[in-house]
Amino acid sequence: MPSANPMISHIRVGHGYDLHRLEAGGTGEQALRPLILGGVRLEHDKGVRAHSDGDTLLHAVTDALLGALAEPDIGRLFPDNDPAHDGRDSADFVNAAMNRVRAAGYAVGNLDCTVILQRPRLAGARDRIRANLAGLLGVDIGSVNVKGKSGEHVGPVGEGRAVEAHVVVLLVRCEAQS
Ligand SMILES: [Zn+2]
Repeated sequence: MPSANPMISHIRVGHGYDLHRLEAGGTGEQALRPLILGGVRLEHDKGVRAHSDGDTLLHAVTDALLGALAEPDIGRLFPDNDPAHDGRDSADFVNAAMNRVRAAGYAVGNLDCTVILQRPRLAGARDRIRANLAGLLGVDIGSVNVKGKSGEHVGPVGEGRAVEAHVVVLLVRCEAQS
């Protein structure tokens, strides 16, 4: 029977998006970090401008998980002006979101990610990123997809000035708690 409480839904979908600037040097409000995507460091002559470790993909994953629960986004839970998050491993944000997912009685069904980056190419790191995400989300690697796309040399991403990630996640209610 349908419930008036949306948290009793058997499935919930979440979407996450993130973007960070890529810069070769100089100064900014935020530190310049090595390029890390999905917990995998990629060699690049540019760095990511960010308060935390700047893992664009893990930030989008975190927002997708929180979005599925209709909870406040990563920026509100982990403000980027909080010294506690300076250089912080973004896996911490995913773990915090997963704690909320489990507390609400859900598990991850599957995850589909698109990373848009002009260079370097993501292909060589794809399976390591999938394995990292599977570990963080408590699912089989077959439930995690990661696609890399270039920016076709158009716009900030295509000109190598930014990296962008889009994520869709499906949460499934755990039988034991339904
Ligand atoms: Zn971010």
